[in-house]
Amino acid sequence: ESLGIDAGGTLIKVAYIENETIHYKMFQSNQFRDLKDWIDGNFASPNIALTGGRQSDLEDYLGLPVMKVEEFIATSVGVKQLLSINEVKPGKTFLAVNIGTGTSIHLIKNGETTRVGGTGVGGGTILGLAHLLTGIKDFDKMVALAKQGNRDLDLKVKDIYGKAVPPIDGNITASNFGNFFNIVNTQDYSDADILAALIGMVAEVIVVISNAMAVQHDCESIVYIGSTVHQNDYLKSVLREYKSLSGLEPLFIENGEYSGALGALKQL
Ligand code: ATP
Ligand code: MG
Repeated sequence: ESLGIDAGGTLIKVAYIENETIHYKMFQSNQFRDLKDWIDGNFASPNIALTGGRQSDLEDYLGLPVMKVEEFIATSVGVKQLLSINEVKPGKTFLAVNIGTGTSIHLIKNGETTRVGGTGVGGGTILGLAHLLTGIKDFDKMVALAKQGNRDLDLKVKDIYGKAVPPIDGNITASNFGNFFNIVNTQDYSDADILAALIGMVAEVIVVISNAMAVQHDCESIVYIGSTVHQNDYLKSVLREYKSLSGLEPLFIENGEYSGALGALKQL
């Protein structure tokens, strides 16, 4: 009985082996209790590997012997394994961008991983700002609504240039939430429009930083992981739209949000 547990800022991800297959399960990070009850109810004397920012808090709470794995090591080991399970070939040099509560960017080159950057703009930014702006608490609801919205709150390059030919692609966002004159004069922006603009902004900040780093490090691809990406077609579509900036097709892997948990499990 082996469990790899990634206790992040928002969600706890578990990868475990049962009947020789890998299974995955998720809990809220503020509900250690649910996780402990589940472990106690299903495993007699499990081998546990912990990773993620809340690993020490969780270790204290569980009161069980555990092995601790550094978060960035767990993530990169897990990403490599998921890429091979999914038969996705990212090339020799690629970025793994983990869009969690915050976002961290890892360079994987000849099998070695270094953290090359990050931004506080991430999944937590979506949850927090979405709630402040719309009152919605549920992530799945935010994502479902965003799909129905449009990006009229933003100003595109072509909106500024009007009839003139812009010096860059007119469809690029010139200013996120920047359609100010219209915003002031219009009352009818829906929650869907606000969420589309918000998820769009988060995706664009991340893609712009990631693309620049990918070019700087001669990457062949960018792999996006983290629960923010999971079942979030809207965010993925924005990440894909910005392919033209670097020429790199974004890659997504099934169960990518469990990279850290799986990487921890592998260390046991
Ligand atoms: P970090 O790695 O930054 O410490 P984390 O590991 O908890 O955080 P992830 O689990 O990768 O981060 O992603 C968390 C984000 O995923 C949330 O901020 C939110 O945007 C999104 N998300 C997806 N599903 C849910 C859910 N059911 N509840 C809350 N957030 C969710
Ligand atoms: Mg995480």
